[in-house]
Amino acid sequence: MSVDIAKNLKNISDQIELSRVESLMASENVSLIAVSKTKPVEDIVSAYKAGHRVFGENKVQEAQKKFAEIGHKREEIELHLIGPLQTNKAKEAVETFDVIQTVDRPKLVKALAKEIKKLGKQPEFYIQVNTGEEPQKAGVLPDDLKELIGLCHEQDLRVTGLMCIPPVDEEPSLHFSFLSKLAKEYDLPNLSMGMSNDFDLAVRFGATHVRVGSGIFGARDYTGVD
Ligand SMILES: *Cc1c(COP(=O)(O)O)cnc(C)c1O
Repeated sequence: MSVDIAKNLKNISDQIELSRVESLMASENVSLIAVSKTKPVEDIVSAYKAGHRVFGENKVQEAQKKFAEIGHKREEIELHLIGPLQTNKAKEAVETFDVIQTVDRPKLVKALAKEIKKLGKQPEFYIQVNTGEEPQKAGVLPDDLKELIGLCHEQDLRVTGLMCIPPVDEEPSLHFSFLSKLAKEYDLPNLSMGMSNDFDLAVRFGATHVRVGSGIFGARDYTGVD
């Protein structure tokens, strides 16, 4: 079955706008991040041709390769890293992405700070918060957030937002409202939350960025993605 990427982008943008105008908590602007992980470059080009410019990938090397292949179009694109980052890939991540959403531990902050100084390039950073306090999940625990933000400031990392992935078996609105509260507390303007199944709800709770993959590009042909 072929997927109409342009139509999906339009439908989701319309739904975002509907949710946005219905909620007092909603942000004035919501950016739709098209999550193209596992999808071929042709799908990215289709979205680009439909006018879309904001993309997300969860793996450094995959993103590096795909977004090198699209040539000059890359200059107009805002590319977000939304997957876990190992410290030994900090350099590639700083080179490849405009926004890194998954900062979650002191060792990674220090590795990123070192590369920023060396490369003279400063992406934007969001901190991933493990709002469900799940042991297996990435993200800083809410209790450790303050200290990690402090370290980012000390190391001159430009932190502008928070990101979360709610536990699959819990009501996401609790996590969205919690993340929204934390962002206000720390005066961070960007809130990345909501995926294909719950982006409309995330918008109602003030998301500035929603991350939608399968809703735009169709189901991925492997399981176990988080
Ligand atoms: C894959 C992924 C998404 C998109 O998921 P869909 O359910 O396909 O919309 C969003 N956020 C993160 C962190 C992801 O890894």
